[in-house]
Amino acid sequence: MTYREMYALAVKNLAPREHSEFFSSGYVSAVLEGANGKYYCGLNIDLACGLGFCAERSAAAAMIADGETSVRRVVCVGEKGDLMTPCGSCREFFRLLSPANLQTRFLVGLEGEKTLSLAELLPLPWERERG
Ligand SMILES: [Zn+2]
Repeated sequence: MTYREMYALAVKNLAPREHSEFFSSGYVSAVLEGANGKYYCGLNIDLACGLGFCAERSAAAAMIADGETSVRRVVCVGEKGDLMTPCGSCREFFRLLSPANLQTRFLVGLEGEKTLSLAELLPLPWERERG
């Protein structure tokens, strides 16, 4: 799948819903390509108490359930189809899933399919030096 096809799938999957005054979902949509060559989709889930999670991590949960932890590419869009870069929690989440994910490419511009790696988005690890 090309980046544009991943983008089109992410837009197609958008499903904004207000389930209740405390629960909404589907305003952000992500498509991941695992190192296994499979694609995983996810939507954001927001709860009024501050819980919930991002579309990227929702897609990653499906990938992990399928036995994969390394991600090749990520495309994430907001409700108007605008490309989104991952929040700090997602950046850290992907980094800790697998060291290989420092090479994960995130689509940041449709023109010329501009991407950034996770290493570029998250250059400094938080944990102490080990060893
Ligand atoms: Zn996030």
